Amino acid sequence: MIADYHIHTSMCRHAEGTARDYVERAVRLGMRAMGFADHLPFLGGWEPRYDLSDDWAMRPDELDDYVTLVQGLAREYAADVRIVLGIEADFIPETLEETAAVLDQYPFEYVIGSVHVVGDRFGFDHPEMEGRLADYGLDRIHLESLDLMRQAAETGLFHVAGHLDHAVKFGVPEDREAVAAAASTALRAVAAAGMTLEVNTGGLRKPFGRPFPAPALLREAHDLGIPLVLGSDAHRPDDVGHGFDAAAALARAAGYATVRSLASDEQEELP
Ligand code: ZN
Ligand code: FE
Ligand code: FE
Ligand code: ZN
Repeated sequence: MIADYHIHTSMCRHAEGTARDYVERAVRLGMRAMGFADHLPFLGGWEPRYDLSDDWAMRPDELDDYVTLVQGLAREYAADVRIVLGIEADFIPETLEETAAVLDQYPFEYVIGSVHVVGDRFGFDHPEMEGRLADYGLDRIHLESLDLMRQAAETGLFHVAGHLDHAVKFGVPEDREAVAAAASTALRAVAAAGMTLEVNTGGLRKPFGRPFPAPALLREAHDLGIPLVLGSDAHRPDDVGHGFDAAAALARAAGYATVRSLASDEQEELP
């Protein structure tokens, strides 16, 4: 099976199963490579607005343990699967310097840039925020999150654009044209930065029921020459590789024949 480069661990406090459980699952599926990309903690004392329950994120002083854990598993399972050390980093303009410094400090082999917090520190992706989405404005969430992805690309800090249009899981925007234009702008920035785009099958586990990003955006990405990787955004061991047949079919339909490997220079042929 195609490599899965978006796998969380219980260290982020909102995922189930040990890191080893995720590795075992990938091995059982016959993956030759896999990448852990747990959430980078919020840094410098910065937090999204609104009181969230404690205990849903890794603490900055636990990053060492995360790296040690993944590196240990990589050594132990070297004969079975190539385990790549990644991280999913929020793009937070306010803590960009701290983020750059921490990313520099650790031997991460790739960084997924994601947007879970939009302007005005609204953590729209957090389950407890569901009731406040309408107040904030759904279109505003779409537009701000896409513009943040454009800005993230322009920093040059991130290698992979994570779940590009995932705001859609909360509903389709009213002004589809404006949102499509913002997505195109973000994709052009992703291309200009030489980044890779993630097809994130986490969307298949939401009521919306399709991977991120939308097929039209995948076609645009293909026309822009942006390489792809697949990621399940696994928060449970069984999520590893989930929906990869569907994701591969969508990538094929968009014109792709291969996906990138983050474990080597080779491409992986899409089934
Ligand atoms: Zn998560
Ligand atoms: Fe994410
Ligand atoms: Fe994730
Ligand atoms: Zn995610």
